[in-house]
Amino acid sequence: MRKFENDCLKFLLKIVSVKSLSKDEIKVSKIIAQEMRTLGYDSVKTDKFGNVVGFIGSGKKKILYDAHTDTVGIADRTQWKTDPYKAVFKNGNVYGRGASDDKGCVAAMVYAGALIKEQRLLGDFTLCVSASAREEIGETQWLDFILKDLKFRPDCVVIGEPSDLKIIRGHKGRAEFKLTVRGKSVHASIPHKGINAVHRAADFIKRIELLNKKYKAAKLGKPVISVTQVETQNASINTIPDNCSFYIDRRNVDGESEKQIVDEIKRACGPHTGIIYKKFYSAWILGKEHRLTKTASAAYKKIFRANPKICLWPFCTNGSFTMGDRNIPSIGFGPGEEKLAHVANEYIRFADVAEAVKFYSIFPLTFCSQKIK
Ligand SMILES: [Zn+2]
Repeated sequence: MRKFENDCLKFLLKIVSVKSLSKDEIKVSKIIAQEMRTLGYDSVKTDKFGNVVGFIGSGKKKILYDAHTDTVGIADRTQWKTDPYKAVFKNGNVYGRGASDDKGCVAAMVYAGALIKEQRLLGDFTLCVSASAREEIGETQWLDFILKDLKFRPDCVVIGEPSDLKIIRGHKGRAEFKLTVRGKSVHASIPHKGINAVHRAADFIKRIELLNKKYKAAKLGKPVISVTQVETQNASINTIPDNCSFYIDRRNVDGESEKQIVDEIKRACGPHTGIIYKKFYSAWILGKEHRLTKTASAAYKKIFRANPKICLWPFCTNGSFTMGDRNIPSIGFGPGEEKLAHVANEYIRFADVAEAVKFYSIFPLTFCSQKIK
């Protein structure tokens, strides 16, 4: 392994070894900012939430790379063969929480900036490498900040998330709801005198599940809907509960609006079920013939001397904000496999991280090339 790759590996091991759940990214952000400075980034900015950006170059075309530094938790610790918060490098793989989702991409993007400088791959572009916080909980204010306060309006965005080195030109969106069902509390020995909110909620949950049978496939595939959490506040086990709340995760496809989805849920559960909380992230697709898709393919061919696989992600990323909401042409590309995200014994093949560094480093110059129509 040459020194540059070895340094990148060390950096990846270091950031995987720092626990960084959503809203707790400050520590890892300091390490990333320091690495960017050491690697010769032209400027580095951080904020109090644990976001970091580093800039390379000052040319006309503006390119944003974004990968997130927060990770999900570990659930059952006994399922892990190694300490999830102490990265291990074994048989060419880096093991640990966040190795694949999404610190492999963070390391590759940060090191691409360095490789651009080292190999003089500079051109008429300004590259902004963003290591963003709070992606797992869907807070995209940071990207909004880059666009508004830093006045960095990108001509294109590359979202670094596990794609197994495939080019991604779109993904499903996501909607999140909390519904609260009301009832009437009585002693559990006389349930007929009250209204059991949990039993009412069970009926609604069944109706939500049945919606899956009605969905038709769009370009991004079929929508899916699931109830992912149920809770009740009750005085005791022997009391009929007067409230039950449940959360819905719905993956939306191209052409679906927030209103359509809210209406669908209201139709399924009736007007008396209160939706008291919701979030909505748009689905998006970039055309096969779009200049950005072609640029990514050209950069891929230069590095790998083969045609890329061009696919769609079934999951949602910050691309929902950049392309879905702001209509800035975006693509996804990253090392790591989607199936290894959020699971026990998460790992990433380091060779793929090293390949991604090459792709990310050649991409800006390719984007500036006039040859791609
Ligand atoms: Zn991710």
